[in-house]
Amino acid sequence: METKSIKIGNLIIGSGFPVAIQTMWKSPLTEDIQPVLNELKELSEVGADIVRFAVPDIQDASILSNISKKSIIPIVADIHFDYKIALKCIEGGVHKIRINPGNIGSSWKVEEVVRAALDMSIPIRVGVNGGSLPASLRDRADLSQAMVEAAEIELNIFEKLNFKDVVFSLKSSDIDSTVMANQMFSKKYSYPLHLGVTEAGPLIPGIVKSSIALNSMIRAGIGDTIRVSLSDSMKNEVLAAREILKSSGLKSQGVNIISCPRCGRASFNTHDFLLSIESSLQKIKKNISIAVMGCIVNGPGEARHADLGITGSGDNVVIFKKGKVVSKGDSSKAVEMFIRELEEF
Ligand code: SF4
Repeated sequence: METKSIKIGNLIIGSGFPVAIQTMWKSPLTEDIQPVLNELKELSEVGADIVRFAVPDIQDASILSNISKKSIIPIVADIHFDYKIALKCIEGGVHKIRINPGNIGSSWKVEEVVRAALDMSIPIRVGVNGGSLPASLRDRADLSQAMVEAAEIELNIFEKLNFKDVVFSLKSSDIDSTVMANQMFSKKYSYPLHLGVTEAGPLIPGIVKSSIALNSMIRAGIGDTIRVSLSDSMKNEVLAAREILKSSGLKSQGVNIISCPRCGRASFNTHDFLLSIESSLQKIKKNISIAVMGCIVNGPGEARHADLGITGSGDNVVIFKKGKVVSKGDSSKAVEMFIRELEEF
């Protein structure tokens, strides 16, 4: 689906640009912002494009302004209830604002925020959430339709003020309602969409639900940014989002790992090996494939087809690069040998 381009700090989203990965900061802010800046850098290294912060009070708005000035990654201020906090964040230089139409209140408050964003040339995301719809829509039987209508109420205000830099999200904890709401919205409008299943759950159920919902929308050409909303770390949200984009055929940067699940034939502990090289692989942005195999049944075949492969063979491991054997050695030296080949590659 064609969507308009929108600039968020140094990032552009919309048609023709890669789908951006977002996560959300998970702990309260303090005046000591250096640890936050360090973590933002680490998140950026593993693939985060945008980080959103909840801003519950005016003091946090000041802290977030300081973070925004020094962050290497665009910062979004997430505002509920008090529009004055949004005004303070905009004035302080955040790169984008997210408001929820269900709880920001009267339309004049939204108008104030829109005018301030217009003055500072920053975008706004209208984040519709199935669990906090405006009172007039809460009892509707069709949740998807109600979510679209909630977005349209806000859209009228934005269009009246000729504000075009708006991103929408229509999220629910229910997969079907989320997908249907986004399908309906994207058929009618060309504003960029931020996708996600809200409150998707702990690591495994959360990734499964998000993958099912996001994959179907991404393959239909819907979505400009995504978040995998997990009861888990920000880093895992980002890594899960990267895998969803890669598996949906979109994000070409990063390692595609083919690895053996292990069975009784395994002579090489692929699980421990993968854990040992995990952090090195997460920082790679190149489009490469790596095979990590446990034995000589399928190992050499898979390892040969990958850019870089390793397979167990008795007490030894064999490393392949572009189909050719480049080194052999004792399994206890596997990590050291493989990292050396990876760095050369
Ligand atoms: S590669 Fe070997 S050890 Fe791994 S699952 Fe296949 S047969 Fe089993």
